Amino acid sequence: MADELSALPWQNEVWQRLATALEEGRLPHALLIQGPQGVGKLCLARRLAAMLLCHAPGPEGPCGRCDACRRVVRQEHPDLAGCYPEEGKRVIRVDAVRELIDFLTLSAHGVRGKVVILAPAEALNVNAANSLLKTLEEPPANSTLILVSHLPGRLPATIRSRCQRVSIPLPPRSQALRWLQELGVGGDEAEAALEATAGAPLRAREHLDQNGEARRLAAWEGLRRLAAGEGEVLELAQDWASQETPERILEWWLVWLLQLRRLQSGLEVAHPPPGLEHLSLLPPQRVHEFADRIMRVRRWLEGPVNIRLQLADLLYRWQRLSRMTRRSVP
Ligand SMILES: [Zn+2]
Repeated sequence: MADELSALPWQNEVWQRLATALEEGRLPHALLIQGPQGVGKLCLARRLAAMLLCHAPGPEGPCGRCDACRRVVRQEHPDLAGCYPEEGKRVIRVDAVRELIDFLTLSAHGVRGKVVILAPAEALNVNAANSLLKTLEEPPANSTLILVSHLPGRLPATIRSRCQRVSIPLPPRSQALRWLQELGVGGDEAEAALEATAGAPLRAREHLDQNGEARRLAAWEGLRRLAAGEGEVLELAQDWASQETPERILEWWLVWLLQLRRLQSGLEVAHPPPGLEHLSLLPPQRVHEFADRIMRVRRWLEGPVNIRLQLADLLYRWQRLSRMTRRSVP
């Protein structure tokens, strides 16, 4: 139980700052925890919520054992509300924010006030953001709003300016590696998982938990086959679109292209997927442009688009691009 509220090692410094501010009564009413995906922003938000509500907080953090801490972990503390997109949806609607405001205006059960965690904040639609803004301008007494975002640039500036920002950058690779190894992951496996997730430790753990390596290699195999003139674009697009997180595949794809660019520049590449070197004849500029395209499609996938069609288009382009290597190989 206590584990879920324990500090992530790369957040120690930021945690100390927050804990001191809380102790000195200077914790602002609204915080925006920002940083890349997979660095534990939500973990930090929950730990802070527990610290605010804990019956016996210590200098290091929430006790992790009291009734309040346990309820925070189970997400059923009456003075803590979470605001997230509905299941299967990508936006937070105004109704959800209105509920949140109702929650904040009711008096708290305990003496320690009310806490709200809203994540991911960039999912707020325009009406929801406007509605939240009013609350941020006049926050109810004894309340703390914790916004979490990996794309803070998408939030209205008016919201950003009313929150104190707390940035969590990616930890150094060695620290992320050590953390995974302490969870019992082997060195090579941990390195491969970090490589696949651009160095984000929590995503690396998720990758390992969800058999991500097998899914990643299967996705690569699909691309490799298309490049070799085998396989069917539509079939592969259908397969990817039916996966729970097709955007992950696009992220892996970006890593492969980055690795390809490194190979082309004569640099060393850790854990390249099998056969990547066959693509090193592709013009670097085209590889670069293709990576840009993937990033654009990844952004589109967050909106209401036909995912299968977007993926199919990308895969057709990949097939065409990789034909260039086949022509140059006798
Ligand atoms: Zn506690």
